[in-house]
Amino acid sequence: MNISELLARNARKFPNKEGFVSGKERFTYKEVDQKVNQLASALKEKGITQGDKVILFSPNTMDFVYSYFAVQRLGAIIVPINAKLTTEEIRYILEHSEAKALIGHELIWAQAAPLVEEYPILWITTGKPSHPGVEILHNVIESGSNTPIACTLKEDDLSTMLYTSGTTGKPKGVLLSQRCALTVATMMCIETGMNDDSRILHMMPLSHSAPLHLFFVAGTYVGATHVLAPTFTPDLLLQLVSKEKVTHFFGAPVAYLLTAKHPEIEQYDLSSVKRWIYGGAPLSQVEVQFVQEKFQTDQLMCVYGLTEAGPNGTFLSPKDHQTKAGSIGKRAALNCEVRIVNAEGEDVEPGEIGEIILRGEGNMVGYYKDDEKTKEAIKDGWLYTGDMARFDEDGYIWIVDRKNDMIISGGVNIYPKEIEDTLKTHPAIEDVAVIGTPHPDWGETVKAFVVAGEPMENMEETCKDFLEGKLAKFKIPRVYEQIVELPRNATGKILKHQLREKEHAQ
Ligand code: ATP
Repeated sequence: MNISELLARNARKFPNKEGFVSGKERFTYKEVDQKVNQLASALKEKGITQGDKVILFSPNTMDFVYSYFAVQRLGAIIVPINAKLTTEEIRYILEHSEAKALIGHELIWAQAAPLVEEYPILWITTGKPSHPGVEILHNVIESGSNTPIACTLKEDDLSTMLYTSGTTGKPKGVLLSQRCALTVATMMCIETGMNDDSRILHMMPLSHSAPLHLFFVAGTYVGATHVLAPTFTPDLLLQLVSKEKVTHFFGAPVAYLLTAKHPEIEQYDLSSVKRWIYGGAPLSQVEVQFVQEKFQTDQLMCVYGLTEAGPNGTFLSPKDHQTKAGSIGKRAALNCEVRIVNAEGEDVEPGEIGEIILRGEGNMVGYYKDDEKTKEAIKDGWLYTGDMARFDEDGYIWIVDRKNDMIISGGVNIYPKEIEDTLKTHPAIEDVAVIGTPHPDWGETVKAFVVAGEPMENMEETCKDFLEGKLAKFKIPRVYEQIVELPRNATGKILKHQLREKEHAQ
């Protein structure tokens, strides 16, 4: 079995079933499979072959679907990248991945176009070509033969390279095998009850491991119907769920919080949804209650994982949300094992902080062109996640912070997330990031970057007074800086390394 074969099998098994919905258009599995054959054979004619890397730069559209499966069908490696990337970020990936082709959607082509003349690869766009030599996807598909191409890839062959979002440094190319994607997809179908009656709304970018493998590949695994949305807005989410009778939705916590605040949410029928799934960050107990009440559901489910794990990891079940919201659950997902270990690699006691490590067939093969980082990340078959966490007395896992963000001041470990979470409860503070800055005596000292939502007089004193009594003295930031906006990447995560680099440069 391989990813391409999932689609071909669906075309045989459910030929006339509505497989994909995109805007006003609807396509059967058979129609899509035929187009994928055509595109695969055309790409082959143009010299793309097994093992080549093809960058896919598209929002969630049918063009993404055709391109993703056609590249898989050829045995080439698909490199889906986030639609919000800038020209320079695309350049980095283009050079690092040594891609042979880039397929870019017209809506975001302007971000890729400046690179066309510099890189002599196969350039394909869905819209009007910006330069001579750039091909049009529709024409490329039409030029291809409809004769089925059998994909003979085995489970150990590579399927995908996903770039990490770059919150801890330059994005890393995570190499994932067919086995990884299929393992994670099967796990998801079992854990969430997806089947061929399911209707999955894809609103989060399919260029990321969770939307791609946990939902898109998983849905294809069982022959579900895919509803594609090129962007997220609360309005569109509510409209599509009620109109398309969606059964499974995945979104970042912020997508739930924004939608819960929609003034007309009560007017939409959301009763078709069997699971409301979120991940990438936690929802607190208060936020869970708010979302549950507004969405009229007790079916919130949290997934924890990372690109390097496929993203297999852990779950917090709907039932556990009543008492353990904010935790990432008690047990590893199917096909995965989880431990928390100290610096010596020994399992920690409940309450003690250590690093989460994961083992399972979802784990990556390694980082592309970076053996050193691969060896640091995978030891004895266990993936070191860089997430610091503790078990509570009931065995639930609570993430404390990321290892890279930990501050060591005077030999004591300080976790910024706790300070940030506390500062964010101040009514005038909209956003905050806490980092360690160099200090001659203590190694590092704690600094807070504060984004004020309303005017704050004497911000430093206000913050210190607010934290007094809430946090131990050594955790209270000594230095403060008010800024207009925190640097964030395309997925909205704070780029703390940029803040740190700025401090070190001073
Ligand atoms: P980079 O490795 O470049 O910094 P990234 O960490 O953003 O990129 P992802 O794989 O997208 O790459 O994110 C995975 C991280 O997101 C996890 O390691 C963890 O820190 C966080 N995370 C994922 N799911 C959850 C969750 N349910 N609750 C809390 N944190 C989560």
